[in-house]
Amino acid sequence: MSNRETLDVDVLIVGGGPAGMSAALRLAQLQKEKGGEPLAIAVLEKAREVGAHMLSGAVLDPSTLKDLIPDFKAKGAPLAADVQRDDIYFLTRTAKVRLPITPPFFQNHGNYLISLNKFVKWMGGLVEAEGIDIFTGFPATEVLFDSSGSGQPRVIGVRTGDRGIDKHGRKKATFEPGVDIHAKVTIFTDGVRGNLTKSLTRQLGLDEGRSPQIYAIGIKELWEVPAGRTQPGRVVHTMGYPLKNEEFGGGFIYSLNDNLVSLGIVTGLDYRDPMFDPHVSFQHLKRHPFVASMLEGATLVRYGAKALPEGGWYTVPKLYAAGALIGGDAAGLMNSERLKGIHLAMRSGMLAAETAFEAVRKGDTSEAALKVYEDRVNASAIRKELYPVRNVHQAFAYGSFAGAMFTGLSLFTRGWWFRDPLPAHGGWTRLRKLSEYYKDARPDTESTVNPVKIDRQLTFDRLTGVHYSGTRHPEDQPSHLVVHDASVCATRCREEFGNPCIRFCPANVYEMVDDGAGGKKLQINASNCVHCKTCDIMDPYQIIDWVPPEGGGGPQYEGM
Ligand SMILES: Cc1cc2nc3c(=O)[nH]c(=O)nc-3n(C[C@H](O)[C@H](O)[C@H](O)COP(=O)(O)OP(=O)(O)OC[C@H]3O[C@@H](n4cnc5c(N)ncnc54)[C@H](O)[C@@H]3O)c2cc1C
Repeated sequence: MSNRETLDVDVLIVGGGPAGMSAALRLAQLQKEKGGEPLAIAVLEKAREVGAHMLSGAVLDPSTLKDLIPDFKAKGAPLAADVQRDDIYFLTRTAKVRLPITPPFFQNHGNYLISLNKFVKWMGGLVEAEGIDIFTGFPATEVLFDSSGSGQPRVIGVRTGDRGIDKHGRKKATFEPGVDIHAKVTIFTDGVRGNLTKSLTRQLGLDEGRSPQIYAIGIKELWEVPAGRTQPGRVVHTMGYPLKNEEFGGGFIYSLNDNLVSLGIVTGLDYRDPMFDPHVSFQHLKRHPFVASMLEGATLVRYGAKALPEGGWYTVPKLYAAGALIGGDAAGLMNSERLKGIHLAMRSGMLAAETAFEAVRKGDTSEAALKVYEDRVNASAIRKELYPVRNVHQAFAYGSFAGAMFTGLSLFTRGWWFRDPLPAHGGWTRLRKLSEYYKDARPDTESTVNPVKIDRQLTFDRLTGVHYSGTRHPEDQPSHLVVHDASVCATRCREEFGNPCIRFCPANVYEMVDDGAGGKKLQINASNCVHCKTCDIMDPYQIIDWVPPEGGGGPQYEGM
């Protein structure tokens, strides 16, 4: 007999980011507007407190916020600054050239600079004030299905992770089994490469006929600079150095209030060079004279990293199934051209809430009833914004110059091209073997091809970064980075790709250490993991599965 507890709700929201919190708030509003028997609603969040796993730039397009919370200023929305000025620079190794015009997609007049951590904490407060329970420290580990009917199985909720299992998989004295939460509708807003959305998509084939998702990794730091150094509300984006023409991405420098600067680099996880190292690229960006001068005498406050879904409209999976809806980054609803997803996540959360509310009230949460959500997304500002840029990231596969030309052209053609959709190569599929990429001289895979000096003032190693991310995981638990066949690492992967995990992981989770017999073996430092999901995306053999650690583990992105 299982002693697993069960909990029944009407609507369950998995993931308390902007999408999940917007869904919860919209449900509360609908209850008030429509009256009647109140719905039981719950939000599950893996972080130990609301907002702790939030990492974003962030420039907020307030269009959805205005619809969801029209009096957001009166309600104390934590807006760090109004955007005052936009600049785009093309960087060479030592110089910078300012673009004379800022293209429309990078114009941020009317937008706000925020800390997404603070913003989501504030939203969480509003949700709780409506009497909705947010269960923090509760990762969902499994989607629950009812396969008893004919046709596709129906989603009936999720199971949360067990607690109190030691690193050998044995139950400790503190063992508590996870809870089965049953819901009439489950809204999956578990963010980029969400573990549940990944499993749901695979099990129900929700990505059939869609282009493969393309991801990027964003590495970000928060700095406190000397007073007067920056003007709050200044938004700078950089192109070029330190990335090669074949590598997608660029830098961002956002000047917040209180002398804080949010600085980062976004790099496509569709690079070809197996020796490419996003973390090292970020250090190079900081050493560029333009950035270094801004950071002179400044103090590092926080570090973090997170993936982004960059593939756009053609990669969005089917957004509904019987008993289930998917929103936000989990559904790939991010505009890579604008580097913005918060307002789209919020909009999808609102639309999912409206659909779930109606379906539960009507007593019909079948696949056909929930299809209305996809119709709503198609008729909304989400499609309006994402459709014209549907091929933009894909165009960068032909190089940054071609990508930039295509982006410019898209402003007139609304994304049309002779081939539509443009071919998409998801994640690791573009990664070349060492022998293909470095035909003449195979690099030493223990070193970096483009090393950077770590001075611990401007540039930091990964471990110091992890310290500044506030990451904590109890050590005595099974590794939540599941490598299904670690023998590949020391043999095939070492030979073919030079163990790229030691470079693409921004938190030193993966190390190749001496095996005591003259060879190497993989060591997983799972407690360093900042939950960015890059390894799950970029591992060339797709043998790494990121699963949630015991509840509450992970980074503490205060102010990020
Ligand atoms: C470096 C960087 C810069 C960015 N800059 C901007 C910007 O300037 N403007 C902008 O608009 N957007 C920006 N974005 C994108 C934006 O942050 C995302 O689009 C947005 O956060 C998506 O919201 P979401 O709610 O869908 O997902 P998330 O914000 O990722 O939230 C998902 C939540 O689900 C939780 N979760 C995940 N799995 C589970 C589970 N199994 N159980 C329970 N909880 C779970 C997570 O802990 C998290 O709290 C940026 C992103 C990055 C990485």
